[in-house]
Formats: sequence, structure tokens, C-alpha cells
Amino acid sequence: MQVRTRFAPSPTGYMHLGNLRTALYTYLYARRTGGKFILRIEDTDQGREVKGAVDVIYKSLQTAGLEHDEGPDVGGPCAPYVQSERRGMYLPYAKQLVESGHAYYCFCTEERLEQARAEAEKKGETFKYDKHCLHLSREEVQRRLDAGEPYVIRQNIPAEGKASFDDVIYGHVEVDCSTLDDNVLIKADGLPTYNFANVIDDHTMGITHVMRGNEYLSSAPKYNLLYEAFGWTPPTYVHLTPVMCRDIQKDKDGHPVLDENGQTIEITRKMSKRKGDPSFEDLLAQGYLVDAVINYMVLLGWSPRGEREFYTLNELKQAFDLEGLSKSPAIFDIAKLNWFNGEYIRRLSPEAFLEAAMPWFEKAIDVKRFDVKRLAELLQNRVDVLNQIPEMIDFFAERPAFDPELYTNKKMKTNPDVAAQALEMVRPVLEAIPEAEWTEANLHDRVMAAIAEAGMKNGQVLWPLRIVLSGKSSTPGGAFEIAYLLGKEETMKRLAN
Ligand code: GLU
Repeated sequence: MQVRTRFAPSPTGYMHLGNLRTALYTYLYARRTGGKFILRIEDTDQGREVKGAVDVIYKSLQTAGLEHDEGPDVGGPCAPYVQSERRGMYLPYAKQLVESGHAYYCFCTEERLEQARAEAEKKGETFKYDKHCLHLSREEVQRRLDAGEPYVIRQNIPAEGKASFDDVIYGHVEVDCSTLDDNVLIKADGLPTYNFANVIDDHTMGITHVMRGNEYLSSAPKYNLLYEAFGWTPPTYVHLTPVMCRDIQKDKDGHPVLDENGQTIEITRKMSKRKGDPSFEDLLAQGYLVDAVINYMVLLGWSPRGEREFYTLNELKQAFDLEGLSKSPAIFDIAKLNWFNGEYIRRLSPEAFLEAAMPWFEKAIDVKRFDVKRLAELLQNRVDVLNQIPEMIDFFAERPAFDPELYTNKKMKTNPDVAAQALEMVRPVLEAIPEAEWTEANLHDRVMAAIAEAGMKNGQVLWPLRIVLSGKSSTPGGAFEIAYLLGKEETMKRLAN
């Protein structure tokens, strides 16, 4: 049997990191097993529809390198792959269930349901539909349908017994049917609910493995009842633990909650775009590399055999398995991602790094004025996330005002007085280097010779020189690199005052 997996996002306008991870696992499992990876858009919740959101899904998958074999844009034998375009498909299946007694028409008004809900709430119970319409006679149902009364179709959950399913991660899951609600399968607008559509779609698309977030775990027994009612074989279920993050507890206005000692309270919670956590797109815009994010996200909830941490997507296609999926929630750790990203930056070719860094150079400096190739060389070992670049190089555009105390450096044996003397000494040395010979090697040789001649320590001159040229104590490259990149004219200008 060929494996067929699907990624079934709802169009929200961004790629949640948990969704990216689900997509990755789904894709990798299909590739590992020589199966098919299918993209299905779940847009039956029309109220939540965001314009352009489907394009974001295509673009994110493409950027991540997860090419799908079937889907709305590439077609396939189970087209259409957008739920709203399949709207006509679901009602006949629901009617089939009505015929077999596994579902029924419900004409209850919103008012009646509201009232029942309120009553349940008053008693502190969770609302469960009372099967009121299950007992309508066939004739009455027909009469009301003929009269054009609005209706929904509900699943008829057995009053007793158990519903269960098997999950790769959670094992055998079993619940009492008495705890399950007769959920709506077809809504008053004729569209299916997610609860119904996912079963019909997964079956009609021949999906063999369903991987999704564990928020669907509690509904899966109901889905299995539907599979049974149709006489279909259910897919293999893989419910994934959520991606969590650390945060501090906040009240409903977003202010930190304090404990009795006035300290903030650490919590772990599910990641959420609404709480300001980054989406996949956000991370890329901040200067994370696609490959690093993918590698990091794959390991957040899946462990390979062995100690290895670095995997390309191609390598993952060989290595990924269901056995490595974790049973406990994974915690997204931005520091770890930063480290991963830094490692990936180090591994880029100099050309690739320059290309990736260029947009970040452009935010801080006039790139035409500088040897950006050399600048990139100096940065590649220091940068973890590309958005750190502008702040690291902004002094090339304009030296910030700085405190003369910056000249004080015990290790280098300098202070503002030593610095004044050192800069006095070095200025004519630099002035004497012709523009055409303004190279790092020349700067190095001439200045070092002058330092020796003046009987000073290297640090006593090089530290102040770096400070006067950059206004900062931490810079990519030292005095010679900075002087070279600034060029003679700007170097002399900065030395003059
Ligand atoms: N459309 C659902 C979501 O975006 C996916 C559910 C599933 O994969 O079955 O959460």
C-alpha cells in the first residue's frame, strides 16, 4: 500500500511554527516511504477566511522546500483539493448516514439550543445536545424538509458503549460514548463542519496517515465512529504534541502577574501568533535561514537515532521515522534556534553569506561606498541572526558619539591620556600612506613599525585607534580592518577630532 499523507491547513494568513512542523513531518514521512504528499485547504469555516491566505500557504511550503504531489495548484486524481470547492460532495455522504441511522436531521432553533446551553451552564455541566430531533418520525422529517425549514445533520453517537482509536504516539485511546456530543456534520448553510469534512476528505483522498496537532485527539473517537458507520478503514493516526514556549504569566490586559514575593511567574504555554510569537514568515523576515529553521523545527518533537544534530532536508527524507516522535511537548527555545542559525551561517559559502547579508547591509550603510565582500568576511563568524548586522556595522555610516572612558582598557594598558598620545603618534603614519596603497596589509605593516619605534605596546595604539574609528568597543574586525573599510579620507576625518 502506498503511503499518502496530507497537510491540511486552514487559511489563516501565516504559517504557524506548529503548522510548519506538522507539514514537515507529513512531508518527510511521505518522502521517506516513497509515498505521496497532498496539500488540502480547509476553508469551510468561511468566517475565518483571510484574503490572500492561501497564497501564503503555497509560498511558505515552497520556501521551506516541501513540494506537494497533489494540491489545489498542481491538481491530482482527487481534485478539487479545496474544501469549499468540494461542498457538493459531503451532503450525499451525510444522507447515507441518515439512512443507516448513524446521523439525523435536526431542526432545533438557535433559541432552543441557546436555552439548553444556558441551562447546562447553570447546572455547571458541559452542554450536550439532547437528541431531541432523533425521535422525529420519518414523515415529520420529510414534511419539514419539504416545507423548506432550516436544518443541520447531526452525528448519532450511540448512547452507550465505547468509542476508540489507535494512535502512533498516544496508543489506544478509548472514551465512553456517553461523554460525546451529537456534533453537527452538515451546517445550516449546507457546508460540512471540520468534524465531518476531514473524515470524508481523508477517505476519498485515500489518506493512509493522518498527522496533526493533538487538539484533535479528543475528537478522533468520533471520527472513528464515522469510519465504522461507513464501513471504511480508518487511517493511521499520529497526533503530535504541541510546540510550547516559555513566558511569564500575564493578566487579561497583558500585565505580568506577580507572586507573593513580587516576582514574575514563569509558565510554559502553547505558541501563538496572537501572543506575539513568531510565525515561519516572521523568522525569515528577522534573518533566520530557511535551512536552520527547518532543521531546528524538525528536532523539536522528533529525535533521530544517534547524536547527530545537523540535517539537510534531503538527509531528513532518509532519516525521518515515526518512532522518533516525542510523547512530551517540545519547548521552542529561541536561544537554541539562534545557535543553530549561527552554525548554518558559518557553513554558508562566502558568496552565499554575502548575498544573504546584503539586504541587511543596505539597512545600515551605503553599500556602494564599502568593500562589502571584506565586510561580509569579517561578519560571517560573528553573526547568529542576520538582523544583528545593522547594529554591528552602523558605525561605518556614522560614528556614534562615545564616552572618552571607552579608551580605558586595563588589559591594553590604555586610558584617555595614553590614547591621546597614541593617536597623535599614529595620525602622520596613516597620513603618509597613499590612497592607492590603503590596504590592510600596508596599514598593518606601517602602523606596527611605528608602534615599535615609539616603544609603545600594540594594544595602547590599536585599542584607541579602533575606538576613535568606530566609537564602539566591540566591532567586527580590528583597527586595520575598520580603517581599510572606511577608506583613507574617512579614517583621517575621524582621527582629526
Ligand atoms: N485544518 C486544521 C488546522 O489547520 C487541520 C486539521 C487536520 O490536519 O486534520 O488546524
